[in-house]
Amino acid sequence: MSYVSTKEILIRARKEKFVVGAFNAVDYTTIAAIVKAAKEKRSPVIVQTSQKIVQYFGYKILPEMIKSLAQDADVPVAMILDHGTNLGVIENCIKYGWSSVMIDASSYPFEKNIEITKKVVEMAHKRGVSVEGEIGRIGGKEEHVIVEENSTLLTDPEKAVEFQRKTGVDSLAVAIGTKHGLYGGNCELDFNRLGRIMELSDFPIVIHGCSDLPIEDTRRLVSYGPSKMNISTEIKHKYLDSYKSYIGENPDEYEPVKTIRFVENEVKKLVEKFIDIFKSSNKA
Ligand SMILES: [Zn+2]
Repeated sequence: MSYVSTKEILIRARKEKFVVGAFNAVDYTTIAAIVKAAKEKRSPVIVQTSQKIVQYFGYKILPEMIKSLAQDADVPVAMILDHGTNLGVIENCIKYGWSSVMIDASSYPFEKNIEITKKVVEMAHKRGVSVEGEIGRIGGKEEHVIVEENSTLLTDPEKAVEFQRKTGVDSLAVAIGTKHGLYGGNCELDFNRLGRIMELSDFPIVIHGCSDLPIEDTRRLVSYGPSKMNISTEIKHKYLDSYKSYIGENPDEYEPVKTIRFVENEVKKLVEKFIDIFKSSNKA
């Protein structure tokens, strides 16, 4: 098994009560770190690409890198466009081989969110690509997704079920108090809300903004049984901080591969840590 459908691994995760980690990649080094960590841990994994990264690389290279590394890894590796807000980008990702896309129309009112999301679902399902939607509004900042504290909107559990039924999304991101970016020790998660969402739903639930949470909160989230948890900010920080520290400690080193290997290994260790917390090791 190598490059697989996102839907397939998330349905299994929901049934068998483990979380598939979805990690944001920014280049070959981060993709390699994520896939190699999954291989080491015998875990399924999802490589996420943001709209910005897709626009930087174009549509051809990213799926090729991920598919090729996945083949060598022999564990289920899926791919998703994270926070798709641009329908043109989403359409191209579907065409060029992403195994799933996220449509984030959560800034629109409920009915409009349904309308846009449904359109993407129809387009994606025709090509066997699965879709993640978002209901409620997840706070914080991540690239082009910026939601101020006062416009954060926690997900109504009943609305979540209605949204899935009306749109046909394969998985659903919910807002339960997590936010994008760094918490700085300041987070309040609504576990009861997540519990209610899990009780009412039978499809994969996704939690965004899982970087920088206290470890006990992350473990508690996992215990409720969401199927996908997203780690972006911590990957980006580890990636850049590793370059900074290696170059700082080895100012006379000019062999790029040594630096790249160091950075890859640091990111890989971080991904492995999350795979253990997510209980997805040996679930490949
Ligand atoms: Zn997100």
